[in-house]
Amino acid sequence: MSERILILGAARSGQWMARLLREQGVCATLSDLKLTGADLPEDLRDLPFLAGDFRETWLDDFDALLISPGVAQDSPPVLAARARGLRVTGEMEESFRLSQTPVAAITGTNGKSTTTTLLSLILEASGLEAPAGGNLGRPASQIVLEQPKADVHVLEVSSFQAETFHQFHPKVATLLNLTPDHLDRYTDFESYVEAKLRCFAAMSAEDTLVLPQDPNLERRLEKLPTRRLAFGCAEESGDGAFYSEGRILVRYEGRVQDVMPLEELGVLGRHNLANALAALAMALPLGLNAEGAAQALREFKGLPHRMEYAGKLGPLACYNDSKATNVEAALASLSGLEASILLIAGGRDKGGDFGILARELPGLRRVYAIGEAAPAILEAFGDRAVEAKDLSGALAAAAKEGRDGEMLILSPACSSFDQFRDFEARGEAFMNLVKEGL
Ligand code: ADP
Repeated sequence: MSERILILGAARSGQWMARLLREQGVCATLSDLKLTGADLPEDLRDLPFLAGDFRETWLDDFDALLISPGVAQDSPPVLAARARGLRVTGEMEESFRLSQTPVAAITGTNGKSTTTTLLSLILEASGLEAPAGGNLGRPASQIVLEQPKADVHVLEVSSFQAETFHQFHPKVATLLNLTPDHLDRYTDFESYVEAKLRCFAAMSAEDTLVLPQDPNLERRLEKLPTRRLAFGCAEESGDGAFYSEGRILVRYEGRVQDVMPLEELGVLGRHNLANALAALAMALPLGLNAEGAAQALREFKGLPHRMEYAGKLGPLACYNDSKATNVEAALASLSGLEASILLIAGGRDKGGDFGILARELPGLRRVYAIGEAAPAILEAFGDRAVEAKDLSGALAAAAKEGRDGEMLILSPACSSFDQFRDFEARGEAFMNLVKEGL
């Protein structure tokens, strides 16, 4: 008899998982706190469904619990399932087990979605079928089901997804960077790091790990037997993707290739250069075509809500960087910009140090502090900050104060959950206010 699987979480990834399992001849049961069987798309309505609050007796009838990334490892269903000896797994891990296609995995605190998108574009421009998904866009199970014959599946991996990894084994993987984030879900930084590192645990000597030139990360990963590629500033020796004297180049198995001038890169900012280099380095062992890659890197102008141009408000050029949900992300977006900046920051405080922004960004002329984090931001910025309550209050104040040539940027350094459903809703609200002239 096949394994009896309960899928906890019947939103998009749970639904695709159920379809993928069905294709394998396994009839899973879906369950959800809020949704009911009637909320499911037509093709899934015949599956068994358990609605409402989780009850431990549900587990009597199952051998495995498959959790969505939103379900924490120490939540009652997971603890109960483990205590009973059920197999506990996740959507990405399970999709990997049911697939033959090599995986390229991208993890880290910031830059995952951008790098995942860039790698997929670079590989496609190099002549490979390389769909992107995972934490970004299409769930892994959907890609496995719809494009099983692809050359490589490019997956963005969040630390929540990595928590359930056992067999997950990427052929190429990167850890872009690592700074405290999501500490509301993790008791400390070390357990957050541990969750991220599970992404690499099964990698072998034939696989490739791509790392920034960061001794701290190298130390944490030194025991892995993988091959290494680096990305960053050009080195004397060593393979990877680098910038040097205004050019982007790659070195692989000792051979150097010039890819393009730095100034032709379509995305803005130093952090995006790092993302582009990481994607290029990952493409090397998969089959990079430098000309195709250059074309892709010229054409891609960035994802929505990441330094996205929102329009003009009086003399101000406005940018939506709502995706900068922590201090490091906001710092990365804002550093290196030449113009005088008016910043809208705040939201739900994740415990980041706003003092870093105040110290590192002398070009910030004014900060409008919104939401729950406003008091902490006011304290960090002193005279440069004013409280503005919400986005429309901040825009109204900025419209009065703005001068020619200045930029107004929403780069909140906080999560959105005090006032919005998610960072997308916050970004859209900002874009609309700018479009309406406030
Ligand atoms: P993620 O998917 O990891 O959240 P994104 O590509 O969506 O990352 O970028 C989110 C935000 O993080 C961007 O708006 C930018 O502010 C910041 N960011 C992007 N890349 C980097 C990087 N390499 N280092 C630091 N911050 C970055």
